[in-house]
Amino acid sequence: MVKVLHDEDIQRDVLTGKKVAVVGYGSQGHAHAQNLRDSGYEVVIGLREGKSAARAREDGFTVLPVADAVSVADVVMILMPDETQAKVYKESIKPNLKSGAAIAFAHGFNIHFGQIVPPDDVDVFMVAPKGPGHLVRRTYEEGAGVPALYAVYQDATGQAKDLALSYAKGIGAARAGVLETTFKEETETDLFGEQAVLCGGLTSLIKAGFEVLVEAGYQPEAAYFECLHEMKLIVDLLYEGGLSNMRYSISDTAQWGDFVSGPRVVTAETKERMKEILADIQSGAFAKSWILENQVNRPQFNAINAQELNHPIEKVGQELRALMPFIKQSVKDQETKKVA
Ligand code: NDP
Ligand code: MG
Ligand code: MG
Repeated sequence: MVKVLHDEDIQRDVLTGKKVAVVGYGSQGHAHAQNLRDSGYEVVIGLREGKSAARAREDGFTVLPVADAVSVADVVMILMPDETQAKVYKESIKPNLKSGAAIAFAHGFNIHFGQIVPPDDVDVFMVAPKGPGHLVRRTYEEGAGVPALYAVYQDATGQAKDLALSYAKGIGAARAGVLETTFKEETETDLFGEQAVLCGGLTSLIKAGFEVLVEAGYQPEAAYFECLHEMKLIVDLLYEGGLSNMRYSISDTAQWGDFVSGPRVVTAETKERMKEILADIQSGAFAKSWILENQVNRPQFNAINAQELNHPIEKVGQELRALMPFIKQSVKDQETKKVA
């Protein structure tokens, strides 16, 4: 197994005395900023005026325009949406970056795909918590942490690795464990996971199962429960103890069905499709399509999104969830929305 670092393995604190500008105060931004502050570090927030800026001020932070925050910072952690980072970097970050400062990320997309090309005289590192921001904050407050990956892309000062590790410790990640990766590995595995399995794979699997039952004449309500609602119970068991834990808890009938039918759904051909998806990620074809889609204001993204909102599973789901007030309406909850 790869080396996992904990608090006691990270002794060289090179973050003390440095000023950290956290750019963006959303899911990750609020958690990094608050955890670093509670760990004793100096933090300013770089933002445009808006909802997040108001919230950061309410939480007691100094909020500056991005350009001003960057010009006083030794470490600039960029926590805006990935598709806006390149523009803000070009306009407000790059012109104000101090020589010998560091820019940091929680996801490698913009560096790996060359949308942000840092100057030679700055450190570039990543600390990517493996969980949504609200969990990064909550676990920190409880005295624990969410594990994180770290990577160094450019080491101009000779301190980039210690800086990344000090930062990871500062947000509480080393209480759980910090693992080394590269920008390439983090970016490509993150994109592949969300496309083939976690988001794309799962939503397509759920919809196909629902459609097969409804087209065969079964009630959409029954189809919803069996193909979507119960997913949570299964995922919780997987999360807590892997495949065997889940199989231990389900009936033997379900387990036999798992063994004989699962491979008929996800076949050798499906695996070939997954390899094609990975190849598109590795070649930059996926990144290019997403960057261009954003440049033309997302016509395809918006059209598909509208179509998906009208899928029958969404309508029946809304009605059934209204009968179950114990289900938290987390989809609309800004903080829990983004995990991938
Ligand atoms: P969010 O969408 O939650 O937050 C974005 C923040 O950026 C908001 O505060 C927003 O402010 C601000 N912002 C947007 N546009 C601009 C702009 N033009 N100028 C200044 N500020 C702007 O982002 P996330 O926290 O989800 O993602 C941040 C990074 O963390 C990404 O790289 C992502 O890949 C990574 N990541 C995210 C995880 C997650 O669970 N969410 C997990 C691991 C990594 P405003 O209110 O003004 O719009
Ligand atoms: Mg059942
Ligand atoms: Mg992702």
